[in-house]
Amino acid sequence: MDSGYLSALNEQQREAVRHGETAEGLLGHALLIIAGAGSGKTNTLAYRVAHLIVQGGDPRRMLLLTFSRRASVEMTRRVEHIVGSTSGTEVARLSWAGTFHAIGARLLREYAPHIGLDPNFSIHDREDAADLMNLVRHELNLSTKEARFPRKETCLSIYSRVINTEAPLEEVLEEVFPWCRDWAAELRELFSAYVEAKQRQAILDYDDLLLYWARMMSVPDLAANVAARFDHVLVDEYQDTNHLQASILVALKPDGRGLTVVGDDAQAIYSFRAATIRNILDFPAQFDAPVKVVTLDRNYRSTQPILEASNAVIGLAKERFTKNLWTDRPSDQRPWLVTVNDEIAQAKYIATQILENREAGIGLRSQAVLFRASHHSSILEVELTRRNIPYVKFGGLKFLDTAHVKDLLSLLRWSENLKDRVSGFRILQLLPGIGPKTAGTILDRISQALSPLEGLSSFAPPKAAKIAWLDFIELMQRLRGNLTGWPSELDAVREWYRPYLEQRWEDAHIRDADLAQLLQIAHGFPSRERFLTEVTLDPPDAASDQSGPPFLDEDYLILSTIHSAKGQEWRSVFVLNTVDGCIPSDLGVGSEADIEEERRLLYVAMTRAKDDLHLTMPYRFHVHNQVGSGDRHVTATRTRFIPSSILSKFEQRVWSEERAAAVTAPTVAGKVDLTASVRQMWK
Ligand code: ATP
Ligand code: MG
Repeated sequence: MDSGYLSALNEQQREAVRHGETAEGLLGHALLIIAGAGSGKTNTLAYRVAHLIVQGGDPRRMLLLTFSRRASVEMTRRVEHIVGSTSGTEVARLSWAGTFHAIGARLLREYAPHIGLDPNFSIHDREDAADLMNLVRHELNLSTKEARFPRKETCLSIYSRVINTEAPLEEVLEEVFPWCRDWAAELRELFSAYVEAKQRQAILDYDDLLLYWARMMSVPDLAANVAARFDHVLVDEYQDTNHLQASILVALKPDGRGLTVVGDDAQAIYSFRAATIRNILDFPAQFDAPVKVVTLDRNYRSTQPILEASNAVIGLAKERFTKNLWTDRPSDQRPWLVTVNDEIAQAKYIATQILENREAGIGLRSQAVLFRASHHSSILEVELTRRNIPYVKFGGLKFLDTAHVKDLLSLLRWSENLKDRVSGFRILQLLPGIGPKTAGTILDRISQALSPLEGLSSFAPPKAAKIAWLDFIELMQRLRGNLTGWPSELDAVREWYRPYLEQRWEDAHIRDADLAQLLQIAHGFPSRERFLTEVTLDPPDAASDQSGPPFLDEDYLILSTIHSAKGQEWRSVFVLNTVDGCIPSDLGVGSEADIEEERRLLYVAMTRAKDDLHLTMPYRFHVHNQVGSGDRHVTATRTRFIPSSILSKFEQRVWSEERAAAVTAPTVAGKVDLTASVRQMWK
């Protein structure tokens, strides 16, 4: 078979791609690729998948786990491109590429009847899960009993951490939520009631998607059945997986054969979601058979000065497995460390540079602005809008968080599962004459009835609300019976919802345009269930014109939290607010481990840049509503991750609008008197 395409790789990369190559296929021992940023890990993984396919592997029997849906789409595209460019091989689709959560949802839907789950289960996002937690808390009188009882979001975080780390509640409280430790008994009672409520209502939250998958893999027959579907399991960004995810992988590939994981311990940034760096460091020790470890040390992404500065930042980390990288992309330009007066000046500086870059031929899409927390970009967003620079924001406020979009999704979700009380409350209360109490009564009927739909339609509404009610029941019957079919039913749903939209909001036409966008996205999915699952697990990103994600052919700038920028690269990168209090964030000041994670975060941000990197630090910046302090301005100091000892790796610059104007206005040499010549014109 022609393997000429492998000549695009370096020797170590090729070794990783061809690992296990034998006469009977490519099922070698477990493979770990551990290497620094931009060394081609993701690229190598794509080549490995492609190579397996070219060698005759069945793409339908490969499980490819990525960190986001975007990453999985990108990877699938790369694989197809490589396979397609090799003569004689038909391009075959990967059928199992996605995040752990999305793949978990798919498997659980299929195996539901075997593990006591309702196959029509709904998936709750974090917000819905917190709402359900709140409902349960009220039922148990836990919120009223004592004012200091943790907020619903905190309860959910504690619960989530216990699930994902598989650690005892008391230990999690002691180590991560010490201010809640006196509530252990009440929390236990709450979580137990929360689990029962989810089971009664056929709901799975994010954590359940991993938990039930892992549980399923501990039943020998089921585990064998699931494992037998996949010859190869390949995982990118392995450093950000948690305990449950690691246990799922071992259950899928108990002896490690056919398992490939890829990651960089220096980029581990998800410990707040219970990810553990131990997964990647301890990977080789898990298997009896020897694990093949490949390290890559050449960076193909960044210029030498950018890489040197990034190496210097991460070089001061306490503990690290991966070694410094090298590159042969020389450049005279060190990364910029720019001091500006305040956040307004910072926004102006960035917008100005971005436009200058565009003039120089670097399109908006090749540039990105990264920040620690989503709200850090708000002043910049105003400036970008003022200058008509279109942008898309990753990892920020989601398009789906708006009330009208949530309404529509809740309706679709509720039509799939009438037992879901959070969605039910939301929809029923849209209808005239139905308040929380009546909604509760209707939901009780549904849960007691043999057929949920009959439970719903047996309710007799107040006279004035009768027409609206009958209309609604008809819609629900249509949806539940799949009478109109997907995706045509979406038009009926939008029509039904329009009067409610108009009653509630003055800007109904703008909101209706959002819904049109949502439906356009929905049309790209094969079924209602797939749409709901995908959109709940990985919501679309917000665009600057507030009308949903932009069309793909437009040029637009990327704004992203550093967390969401993982794995990506741009020619020009700006990192906002590189000051103490932002990176590391105030929240991160807790323990030494937290601080180390913030250092890795800065490393991730810096290593996204290919040619041009700007770190900006406003002298004065605005502290938002942190616990115990109000909104206030503080004088900032440079991030502690760039101490004086490594300052020489950067090019320092102080920028202000006046100075910039002075620099850009051309200077005039010499002097001429024009007045005489002008006077002369009239003579
Ligand atoms: P990160 O740690 O940020 O996820 P990574 O290690 O996954 O980075 P990739 O994104 O796979 O790195 O690759 C970084 C860049 O280097 C990409 O633009 C990729 O195309 C390029 N690259 C990787 N390997 C090679 C190679 N052998 N020759 C030329 N370019 C390469
Ligand atoms: Mg990568």
